[in-house]
Amino acid sequence: MSKVYVGVGHGGTDPGAVGFLVEKEVNLKMALACRDYLVKRGVSVLMAREDDSSVTLTESINKCNAYNPDLALECHNNAGKGNGFEVYHSLNGVTGKILAKNIEEEVIRLGQNSRGLKTRKGSTGSDYYGFIRLTVCPAVICEGAFVDHPEDYKMIDTDEKCKAFGEAYARGVLKTLGIEDTVIVTPPDETEPAGNKGYLVKITTDALNIRRGPGINFEKVGMITDRGVYTIMEEKEADGYTWGRLKSGAGWIALKYTKKL
Ligand SMILES: [Zn+2]
Repeated sequence: MSKVYVGVGHGGTDPGAVGFLVEKEVNLKMALACRDYLVKRGVSVLMAREDDSSVTLTESINKCNAYNPDLALECHNNAGKGNGFEVYHSLNGVTGKILAKNIEEEVIRLGQNSRGLKTRKGSTGSDYYGFIRLTVCPAVICEGAFVDHPEDYKMIDTDEKCKAFGEAYARGVLKTLGIEDTVIVTPPDETEPAGNKGYLVKITTDALNIRRGPGINFEKVGMITDRGVYTIMEEKEADGYTWGRLKSGAGWIALKYTKKL
């Protein structure tokens, strides 16, 4: 299974660029949309942050390298004299540059103009940006739009528009990895012990994460968004939640967000 790391610029006490919009908030909306799109297509995703918390660049890079993904991207938005999208990749080009190009194509399709693919050299001659230089896998930094430009910020001033950017990034990732843009439905698991029929629950929230194992530190492998009825085969306690294992084999969900039928 392919793995992707999604960095989220700034957060917590660091707002990033501030103009008509606050960069850290826009970055997170794009990153969450990118993750959701990828997860639904069978890609495992780890994010730098999933809420408005402070994660240092060093922490994010370490988290990324420990996860050992196939690709990494970091969501940012811009400020200071300009308008349009831009994407940074490594001076070495190769896969990072292909990823940058694939993402750019998708962003242009949204109607956003592009300032192009960029590289930035540091004083030692290697890549200036730590997220590109110090991550082991190919990595890019996406700058969606300018939060302080009186027209450009309107490309990203609603949840829906931010989602469109995040999904465009995801499509660029899929193309780079050679993964079809198709929602995956996990087949039922046929390995249950005889006699274990499980029990039914109804989902009571609009978006419930599916994790690989029972606990908040397991990676997200999917999301339930249909408030539907699911079969739970096994329960485990961890991190203050009771977790239920889905019969489909997709993973574990927090039963707090379900009602037993
Ligand atoms: Zn930024």
